Amino acid sequence: MNKIYCPICEKELLGQKSEWPDYPFCSSRCRKIDLGRWLGERYKIPGNSSSNVLNTDEENLD
Ligand SMILES: [Zn+2]
Repeated sequence: MNKIYCPICEKELLGQKSEWPDYPFCSSRCRKIDLGRWLGERYKIPGNSSSNVLNTDEENLD
């Protein structure tokens, strides 16, 4: 069995996914932190509209 850890605080998520409403985060707090980071990174990206950027693999991790 593979263990799941919260990507923000690295707390271990014990039990079933269904026991964690904020999966893969341990809490809504960590979820918000992650969202804030993600939005922060978005804002840092300069308005460079080149169409050959293919770094979308991270969006397929669902
Ligand atoms: Zn956490």
